[in-house]
Amino acid sequence: MENIIIIGTGPAGYTAAIYAARAELSPVILTGSQPGGQLTTTNEVENFPGFPEGIMGPELMNKMQAQAERFGTRVEFGIEVTDVKKNDDGTFAVHTKPVFGEEQKVMQARSVIVASGATARYLGIEGEEQYIGGRGLTACAVCDGAFYKGVPVAVIGGGDSACEEADFLTKYASKVYLIHRRDSLRASKIMAKRAMEHDKIEMVWNSQLSGYKEGDSGNINAVVLENTVDGSESELAVEGVFMAIGHTPNTDFLSEELVDKDESGYAIPIPGKTATKTPGIFVAGDVADTVYRQGITAAGLGCAAALEAEKFLSGH
Ligand code: NAP
Repeated sequence: MENIIIIGTGPAGYTAAIYAARAELSPVILTGSQPGGQLTTTNEVENFPGFPEGIMGPELMNKMQAQAERFGTRVEFGIEVTDVKKNDDGTFAVHTKPVFGEEQKVMQARSVIVASGATARYLGIEGEEQYIGGRGLTACAVCDGAFYKGVPVAVIGGGDSACEEADFLTKYASKVYLIHRRDSLRASKIMAKRAMEHDKIEMVWNSQLSGYKEGDSGNINAVVLENTVDGSESELAVEGVFMAIGHTPNTDFLSEELVDKDESGYAIPIPGKTATKTPGIFVAGDVADTVYRQGITAAGLGCAAALEAEKFLSGH
């Protein structure tokens, strides 16, 4: 029986682990399929306090892991949670399986902190999956940008992620088209300005990607765009497409019997808390955040979840 199982190793999960470990609760943290979470797919993080020169996302996450382990957190790699069930005595059965493999295991815990984050979204148009990962379509410029040296690429979206990805890709690509369905960006002013003023980035306004074209190699060599104002269609020659249209919360394993969710699947805690309607289950970070979605806010909520869990456990 563990005191706390923390699901997810982004800033929320690791901060919860640091606090829980320092409170001598010997937390266990499960990494899932993306150890370190979304920040490991980010380039330079310029807005996490304490790093005036900026810090690379993966390095920041390695530091959080080391800090959590220093105080006695047990990190279990490659373990995915498939279900959480409440036992009759109020403790929890956390059902897991390896990311690569089928061997299921049930772990028992007095409390659970869900910090499973969110996953990049794709458009869901027909045949899209076949291009993901190696054939021209990805949601991670940092991971895959270097494969597109000297060729034109497209970034889809109009938020901070889209601008950041576009800016990053200018290091490699011959040209970056930033394709957005409206005629103004959602991104923060500083990031929008950086993208719009970059001589390698061309804005493609009022355009929705509606199809992919492939060359002889089977890889994407163009995209079909539909004009969102007049409905006209056009083709744009690009060899890479970087999706940056937001995220879906990772809450499939969490039943609504235990935790309320909104229509998009985001976990809903008790207002002003990380506690949920089920005593002993706490939610923190992007999995429950539809507003801020920043590394630092996730870390803050991870801290809050650990403090609330500690109080809950001391009451039992
Ligand atoms: P976001 O702000 O939700 O933006 C998503 C963008 O994708 C929007 O422009 C949206 O268009 C577009 N979009 C959504 N669904 C679409 C669809 N089906 N087809 C075409 N376009 C679609 O997401 P994000 O950019 O990933 O940012 C998420 C959060 O992380 C934000 O709070 C952001 O500030 C933060 N962030 C911060 C940094 C940083 O500070 N370094 C970097 C990245 C992200 P509409 O505008 O028309 O809705």
